[in-house]
Order: sequence, then C-alpha cells, then structure tokens
Amino acid sequence: MTSKIEEGTARVLDVIWRTDGIYELVLERNGVSFVPGDCAALFGEDGQGSRPYSFSSGANDPELRFLIRRMEGGEVSPYLGSRKQGDRVKISPPFGWFRPGQAGNQAPSVFIATGTGIAPFMSYLRTWPNSPPLSCLYGVRTRADAVDVEWMREQCDVRLAVSRETAQDAHHGRVTDLLDDIPLGPGIHYYLCGLDAMIDQTSDWLEERGIPIAHIHRECFFNADA
Ligand SMILES: Cc1cc2nc3c(=O)[nH]c(=O)nc-3n(C[C@H](O)[C@H](O)[C@H](O)COP(=O)(O)OP(=O)(O)OC[C@H]3O[C@@H](n4cnc5c(N)ncnc54)[C@H](O)[C@@H]3O)c2cc1C
Repeated sequence: MTSKIEEGTARVLDVIWRTDGIYELVLERNGVSFVPGDCAALFGEDGQGSRPYSFSSGANDPELRFLIRRMEGGEVSPYLGSRKQGDRVKISPPFGWFRPGQAGNQAPSVFIATGTGIAPFMSYLRTWPNSPPLSCLYGVRTRADAVDVEWMREQCDVRLAVSRETAQDAHHGRVTDLLDDIPLGPGIHYYLCGLDAMIDQTSDWLEERGIPIAHIHRECFFNADA
C-alpha cells in the first residue's frame, strides 16, 4: 500500500450521475497505488472534515474511481457530487484492511454487498477478471441503483435483490433473502460490504452454519440509524 500522494489534491476528471442519488467520481491517478478493498479519505468543502471512500476502479486502471451515494444533508458526499471537471479535491493516501478475494491464499470467495458497498467488489473484478468469486449477492433499493450489474454478470454469478420495487431480473426483497443461494464450505471466504444491518444478519447466518469467523470479512459503510 504505497502512494505518491502524501495528502494532496487530485484533479476531477468527471462526475457521472448513475442515478438520482449515486454518482461516480473520477479523479486523476497521480501514480497512486492501491489494492482492491482500499479506501481514501476525501475531504469536504472546508478541507477539514473527511470521509472514507472505497476505490471502485481497478488497481491498474488509468484513473481513480469512487462510487458514492449522495447523503442528503451530509457534509462530504453532496460536496463531492457538486464538483466539476478540473476542480481539485483533497485526498489522503490509500488505506484499508478489507481485502476481497485475497484471504486464505486467494481461497474461493463469495461477495455480498448492499448499495455502494459494491465498490470494492467492482475494484476486485476490474483488477482480477480471471479470478471471479463463486457468487455475488447485490442488494439495492431500486433497479436503477444496481450500477453496472450487466457488466458484473458477464464477470461472475450475480444475484440481485431490489427492495423497493419489482424488477424482472431480480428478487423483490432484501439481499439476505438470497443467502440460501450461496455456496457454503469451510474453505470459502465471505466478504460483506455496505449497510451494518445486512452485515450483522449475514455474519450471524454464516456462523450458525459453521463458517469460521475468520472466514467472514466485514466492511461497514453505513449505519441504519444514521
Ligand atoms: C471504510 C468505509 C468506506 C466507505 N466507502 C464508501 C463508498 O465507497 N461509497 C459511499 O457512498 N460511501 C462510503 N462510505 C460512507 C462514507 O464514508 C460517508 O459516511 C457517507 O458518504 C456520508 O458522508 P457525508 O459527509 O455525506 O454525510 P454525514 O455528514 O456523515 O451525514 C450522514 C447522514 O447522517 C445525517 N446526519 C448527520 N448528522 C446528523 C445528525 N446530527 N442528526 C441526524 N442526522 C444526521 C445526514 O443528513 C446524512 O444523511 C464508506 C464508509 C466507510 C467507513
């Protein structure tokens, strides 16, 4: 985990709104080096307050990408979403401990995400397209929130759950309703990312079925109470 950015600024290459509430922030790379699962702290308007965001770009891509939900009234995510091409944003060096697909000597893996918690798994698939997970569960509120799911389905087995509307290619309900679909085994590692409630429920479910806690990897982005 090394970076040429000490805590500097990066030029905005684009802000791409993927839905009403989710955008992709594209920054110049500046030689930054990271591994899938790493985050960077991105700063708000005053340059003081920051929030962590997980890289969604591949480790070898020419630019840095982040997939961000705009939180109404939030300090940082609305500010970043209002940036324009050529603006500069303050960014920390990469950091992190969540390592999708990298534990147990690249043991077989299952990915489970809600919302923008898909970002580190996108980074994984963009970095190592030839080592897909056994399965990926992806839970979103609306079908439009399922960013890049068609591309992901070309990479691996993706089961989609949409909670607030029906969609022809998705389960209507929570992603945890789909847990019976995932492969279970003592050699498999499970990577959970997104909302705390999903992570807690899925962890309990896996532990009840004998999955060792060391094989359950968690990255919480959002608290349901926030
Ligand atoms: C390791 C990690 C990685 C992450 N990666 C991503 C990612 O890739 N993509 C992503 O979208 N998010 C990610 N997050 C979440 C992100 O860091 C921010 O928490 C999120 O963007 C909200 O930040 P904000 O400054 O916009 O909102 P905040 O200012 O933190 O506020 C969050 C919400 O709480 C509400 N709120 C704030 N204060 C109060 C209060 N006093 N009373 C009531 N409500 C309040 C706000 O209105 C807003 O809706 C990650 C989090 C972690 C921990």
